[in-house]
Amino acid sequence: TTVYLNGEYLPMSEAKISPMDRGFLFGDGIYEVIPSYDGKLVGFGPHIDRMKEGLGFIEIGLNHSHEQWREICEGLIEKNGGGNLGIYLHVSRGADSKRFHAYPNDVAPTVFGFAFEIPPAPVADKAKAKGYKVSSTEDLRWKRCNIKSTALLGNVMHFQQGYAAGNNEIILYNAEGEMTEGSACNAYIVKDGVVITPPLDNQILPGITRLMLLDILRKDGSIPVEERTVTMDEVRNADEIWLTSSSKEIAPVIALDGNPVGNGEIGDVWQKAQALYSAGKFNY
Ligand code: PMP
Repeated sequence: TTVYLNGEYLPMSEAKISPMDRGFLFGDGIYEVIPSYDGKLVGFGPHIDRMKEGLGFIEIGLNHSHEQWREICEGLIEKNGGGNLGIYLHVSRGADSKRFHAYPNDVAPTVFGFAFEIPPAPVADKAKAKGYKVSSTEDLRWKRCNIKSTALLGNVMHFQQGYAAGNNEIILYNAEGEMTEGSACNAYIVKDGVVITPPLDNQILPGITRLMLLDILRKDGSIPVEERTVTMDEVRNADEIWLTSSSKEIAPVIALDGNPVGNGEIGDVWQKAQALYSAGKFNY
């Protein structure tokens, strides 16, 4: 694997980062994952917009342009043989000489990128798609989930909770019993043909797959979409449940806490939405 580190491409085994890097010591950084199929990036512009916004939130002064980021992504794709790749981009605040919480002002950010193989994009076919099994639990992460921070321990612990119990993901809900998102994805229900997902706020990551999917559905117009609070009662009574992320696209959920979702099979609305997403995803 060839990686990118601070302006250079080099073998993964030669990439060296200081143990004093604040990404390592504090999880003080921002990251992105951008899917690429046969050299074509999905949602490049919005992914970079979100990373630049995240760097702004935490006051990391790295001002790479979209073009600079595109060059890095294309370099990683080319040096790693193309195909189906996830492009991981990571900016940490950099290595300080001491371990002190306050932001240092004379430290250069660490810029790292690597590419990893991802499965082919899902095909919009109920008979062939993988149905996800999920559990649910109270969301115990922090109150700034809109920041795509590299400090993912809260997400990791929640994912592990679901995974250790044999599930593919875990759906999270707040103290009011309202669904927030999954440990590594956004979450949706379908009820009576309407796709419903929680609104953007500090409780969820503004997913790029979510942004593109909602835009594609609204432009198509045949499936109504609502962004509003969704209670766990509604989730338990949903006809369909979906999860979205860059690597999954739209994942249909067939079981929640051991109970079937709807009739326990992948739904028709999922199939239609995934077909629309597959057709439209390269336009972003
Ligand atoms: N929420 C969380 C907590 C995530 O980790 C992710 C994936 N990184 C998402 C939502 C989905 O975001 P995206 O569609 O941009 O991959």
